[in-house]
Amino acid sequence: MEIYSLKRDELLKTFKTDFTVGLKKEEALKRLQENGENKLLEKKKKTFAARFLDQFKDAMIIILIIAAIISFVVVLVEQNWSEIFEPILILLIVVLNAVMGVVQESKAEKALDALKNMTSPHARVIRDGREELVDAKSLVVGDVILLEAGDFVPADARLIESSSLKSEESALTGESVPSEKDAFATVPDNAPLGDRVNMVYTGCTITYGSAKAVVSATGMDTEMGKIANLLSQEESVETPLQAKLSKLGKTLGFVAIGACAIIFVVGLVNKIPVLEIFMTSVSLAVSAIPEGLPAIVTIVLSIGVQRMVKRRALIRRLPAVETLGSASVICSDKTGTLTQNRMTLVKAWCSNDETYSNVSKTSPDKMIELIKIASLCCNGNVMIENGKEVHLGDPTETSIIKAVCDFGYEKDELFAKFPRLLELPFDSDRKLMSCIVQAGDKKLVIVKGAFDELIKRCVGGDIQKAQRITEEMSREALRVLGIAVREISEIPDDATSESVEKDLTLIGLVAMIDPPREEAKQAVALCKRAGIKPVMITGDHIVTASAIAKQLGILEEGGRAITGSELDAMSDEELDACVETISVYARVSPENKIRIVKAWQRKDKSVAMTGDGVNDAPALKAADIGCAMGITGTDVAKGAADMILTDDNFATIVEAVREGRGIYANIKKVVGFLLGTNIGEVITVFCAMLLWHTTPLLSMQLLWINLVTDSLPAIALGMEQVESNVMDKKPKPKNESFFANGLGVRIVLQGIMFALLTLVAFVIGRGSMSGEMSIKAGQTLAFFVLAMSQVAHSYNMRSSQSLFKTGLLGNKTLNKAVLVSLALVLLVIFTPVGVAFQVVKLPFYCYVVGILLSLTPVLVMECAKKFGFVRD
Ligand code: ATP
Repeated sequence: MEIYSLKRDELLKTFKTDFTVGLKKEEALKRLQENGENKLLEKKKKTFAARFLDQFKDAMIIILIIAAIISFVVVLVEQNWSEIFEPILILLIVVLNAVMGVVQESKAEKALDALKNMTSPHARVIRDGREELVDAKSLVVGDVILLEAGDFVPADARLIESSSLKSEESALTGESVPSEKDAFATVPDNAPLGDRVNMVYTGCTITYGSAKAVVSATGMDTEMGKIANLLSQEESVETPLQAKLSKLGKTLGFVAIGACAIIFVVGLVNKIPVLEIFMTSVSLAVSAIPEGLPAIVTIVLSIGVQRMVKRRALIRRLPAVETLGSASVICSDKTGTLTQNRMTLVKAWCSNDETYSNVSKTSPDKMIELIKIASLCCNGNVMIENGKEVHLGDPTETSIIKAVCDFGYEKDELFAKFPRLLELPFDSDRKLMSCIVQAGDKKLVIVKGAFDELIKRCVGGDIQKAQRITEEMSREALRVLGIAVREISEIPDDATSESVEKDLTLIGLVAMIDPPREEAKQAVALCKRAGIKPVMITGDHIVTASAIAKQLGILEEGGRAITGSELDAMSDEELDACVETISVYARVSPENKIRIVKAWQRKDKSVAMTGDGVNDAPALKAADIGCAMGITGTDVAKGAADMILTDDNFATIVEAVREGRGIYANIKKVVGFLLGTNIGEVITVFCAMLLWHTTPLLSMQLLWINLVTDSLPAIALGMEQVESNVMDKKPKPKNESFFANGLGVRIVLQGIMFALLTLVAFVIGRGSMSGEMSIKAGQTLAFFVLAMSQVAHSYNMRSSQSLFKTGLLGNKTLNKAVLVSLALVLLVIFTPVGVAFQVVKLPFYCYVVGILLSLTPVLVMECAKKFGFVRD
């Protein structure tokens, strides 16, 4: 017999569990050890050795190795032992380079893995009679789980209880319309998967209702596991910027290879030994081709991601980090994001009363009765735990429960006295929630929800007066809920919103306060300074929303607030004409959010949009940066988002934008530095070959510079702290080129500067000695100056502001990288290691001139900054 066709009592025996108290913790642990974790198998990770070998796949590296081997053989054959170091050193440097490549890749991968683990799914399970949130991986067969709208189903499970449950199973059945589920349905053996209405499956989502279920299969035994077989976890996550940079890298690579080919031919013509000129050309190509750019970008991005986690923004997709930097509109939910979501029931109005009044322990009986009825249509609870009051559930509802508790009632006792027969859960589309309760021998429908939605279903009660009171309360920034009831004799067979929420009588209003978050006010001000438009999108009443938007500074003179229905009545063209003036959208449906995103996108703006519900997923996907709520968000919203706000806070989005801008700026610094130095190397060798038909730098010298003074400071530049002025600038236009604002020209000019300095050093070095030593001396000083000037230049790249303003030593990682680089350069220049690099001891004045030349970039860049040639 299949699980779905078993009877309920058979289920208990099969799973050896208890539907009320669940499994015992020890039993769950035992089953976990026996059957393994609830996860789909992932592709095996590459071993260190495999990754290491991958580094040698590059054609230029292979050619270099072959050249080194040939050179080694030549040395052996000719017994010319003074040259033996060159091939050995080259091989050593290539190996070191590969190790560095693997380390960088592993770092980047680790960061990505950590990211994945942080967003791994959770499940609500009942164990030892207590509900707890566990990592979905620890679920075992027999666990009793709880599901509600927005949850990912964490394992295959047979339903035990369900209320209006719907599950979207397209991942398994291809059917995108959610299927209705029913715990009590009987399903015959061999029913196709789509017809097993008493089951839910891993990989599917709950789109409506709630349920209790018992886990029937986990991990690879689930239906998903059977078809997924081996899930490839290593999707390539190339961000748009990485893609652009690797394309650019390829183009520059071709240019470098072209230049090296010319250098090789010129060398041949000028009778430089073939092997020597070949080695120099290939080494130059290896050093100059920026194939490491995408890896460095990944590292910089993932460092940013780690920083953002500390600031409570969890990035799910790396490209979001780049996009964050260009965010120019932030559309945010109100409740909980801009406000504290600490609702307190403060006022109430009972039908037929002249006016509304404060809720207090001495409130009249009529008001207490109203709130008591409202509380019967609430979930959640208010409890005292360790001497502290704890609210469990939706704050709108717990504020009502708290009020009844203050009147001296116990929620559980009330619910026992008026048992709930049916519930139609709240959803943001209807903006209503209803219950049917047994009140003595009567059945009572209680509906609570947004006043304007509720009155559409009311036939009794003083609607006009209620309307006026709602307006008044809303102007005080209160959230107002209408309460309506109807007596019925029978529960309708098809208990839907249409059949239950009708012919109601309005019995009163309850109003709660939800104060704005203090930090949201500052974040809104920061947004404005940074040229970002904050927009409030809320399901709440327009008057309440506007009052709060004014308090926060979102709605100002000249700004507009409109409702979802007004938005519905607008054409796209009409919306485009006024979207920039609208700061508040009230009573919106999740579908409205997509229109708002699209309207802004038509204006070429990058839009960040928050969301928490199941229906928010499409808007989160449509936005440039979808932000899901970490605390109140559903799994579906989190799954669709680029970023999760672990504190549900608007200020966190703004913080993330700040980090995003900083990271983008850092990537620019890294790329600018790397390309500038690489171009410098190519121009140096190219010009020297044309001018003097000789190589100013030997192959291992070039490779050493590439390894020591290019890569190390470059990575360190990527760790630069976000500059204090990043939020004083306007957002960068959405499709702005990476090389905008003169970055491209500056890179080339910096390359020319390095080349000039190195060539001058070469000439001075040559002049310091005569005969055979002359070239060697020239090469030594050229090596010294090229390496040292790059090290000095790394400090220039820290900021577009003067070094005197930013301070010299602010980036500790850079300081360390520079110390290591310096030590490794000086090791070659001043110790016997230099013999291997064919450097020679120079007259003292050469070192002084060398240092002066190396510091020249600082002087040049300071002048360029002073005269405004360096912009972000
Ligand atoms: P946000 O500002 O984040 O969109 P919101 O709480 O204002 O959140 P919804 O949750 O969609 O938006 O609520 C919309 C309206 O539905 C509220 O203004 C309120 O009138 C009503 N409402 C909210 N929660 C409940 C609830 N639990 N039961 C009944 N009605 C509710």
